Amino acid sequence: MPNGGATERLDAAVAEIMPESLELSHRVHATPEIAFQEHQAAAWTAELLAAHGFDVTAPAGGLDTAFVARWQGRASGPVIAFAGEYDALPEVGHGCGHNLMCSSSAGAAIAAAQALGRDFDGEVRFIGTPAEEAGNGKVHLIRAGLFEDVDVCLQIHPSDTSAAESLCLAVTEIGVTFHGTLAHASADPWLGKNALDAIVLLHTMVAQWRQHLKPGERVHGIITHGGAAPNVVPDRTSGAWYVRTPVDEDLDAMVERFGVMAEAAATATGCTVELAADPVNRCRTMLNNPTLLGIWRRHMATAGIAEDPIDPNAGSTDMANVSHEVPTIHPYLSIAPRGTPGHSHEFARAAGGEGGDRMLPDAIRILAATAIDLIEQPALVDQAWRELRGEGSGRRART
Ligand SMILES: [Zn+2]
Repeated sequence: MPNGGATERLDAAVAEIMPESLELSHRVHATPEIAFQEHQAAAWTAELLAAHGFDVTAPAGGLDTAFVARWQGRASGPVIAFAGEYDALPEVGHGCGHNLMCSSSAGAAIAAAQALGRDFDGEVRFIGTPAEEAGNGKVHLIRAGLFEDVDVCLQIHPSDTSAAESLCLAVTEIGVTFHGTLAHASADPWLGKNALDAIVLLHTMVAQWRQHLKPGERVHGIITHGGAAPNVVPDRTSGAWYVRTPVDEDLDAMVERFGVMAEAAATATGCTVELAADPVNRCRTMLNNPTLLGIWRRHMATAGIAEDPIDPNAGSTDMANVSHEVPTIHPYLSIAPRGTPGHSHEFARAAGGEGGDRMLPDAIRILAATAIDLIEQPALVDQAWRELRGEGSGRRART
C-alpha cells in the first residue's frame, strides 16, 4: 500500500526543487547543443537527479547522450517515466524550448520522489532522450528496449497554447541525390546532363503534388547542394525532403509517390537519382492516452490553467513512437503569445525568458501530481493499458 499524503507534500517538494530546475533550464538554454551532441545538457540533468538520490545509468540505450535515472519504492509497482529532451536546433538554438523539457521532467521526477519517499510500490524514472529534432533518438531507445518495463511515459512541450492533446504527424525524411554529367556550361553544354535541372524539376513537381495531398499531409524540402560553379553543368545535386501524414498507413504511399516523381525528374534530364529513406527511423502519429489526459486535465485545472483546443497545425515527434509502446501524453503548456512561430528566435527567447520561467513550476507540479496519482492508484495504469491495447487486454506482463 502506498503511504498516502504524497499529494499534500507535493507543493513543498516543487517549491524546493524549483531553483535548481530553473537554473538547469537557463543553463541548457544558454548552451545549445544539437541532436546527439547534448553532452553537457545530459550530464547536468543527470547530475541534478543523482544529487537528489536517483540511481543514474549513463549512457543508456546505445546513445552517448541518453541516460536513465531511477527512484525505486520498496516493492515493484508501476514504473512512471518522465522523458526529457534537451537537443537544440542548428542556428536557432532552443527555438523549440527543449531546455524546458529536461528541466520540467527532471524537476517533476525529483518532486514526485521527494513527495513519495521510499514507502511506495513502483518507480519514478527519468529517461534522458536525445535527438528529437533530428535523428529520432527515441526510435533508437525503443529498439534498445529502454521502454520495455515502462508503464507510463510523460513529457510536456512548451508551446504558444496549452492544449492537453497533441496532434503529431507521421514523418520520414527522404534524401535525394541526382547524378548527371559535367560539361562546360557555355562551350559545350549539349554534352552535359544537368543535375540542377533534375532537382529543380522535383521541387516543382512536389509543389504541384501539394494540391492533391489529403488534408493534413505535408511535403517540404530543401536543396543542399545545387552545383559547383555557374560555368559548369552540375553533375551532382542533393536535397532532403520530409513527407508527413496524419495517418500512419498513408506514409508508405507518399514515399512511393515521391520516388516516382524523383525518377521522372531524372529521366527528363538524362540523370539518375539515388533516394535514401530509412523505413525504420521514422516518427509515427501520437496516441493521446485518454486516462492520462483525464488526470492531466484535472491537475491542470487545479493549477488554474485553461485548456486550449487541440492545435490542428501539427509537426512530428519521436515521443509519438513512445505513445505506441506505452500509455503516453505529451501536452503543451504555453510560454509565448498565441501565433508565435515554433523554431523561431522569438520562441527561443520565450524558452529562456519570462514565459518559460513562469511555465516551469506549473509543468513540474502537474507532471508530478499525475505521476503520484498513477503510483497511488495502479488501477489507472491498467485502465490506460487497456485503452492502448484495446479493451480486455491488461497491462503487459513484466519480464
Ligand atoms: Zn520540440
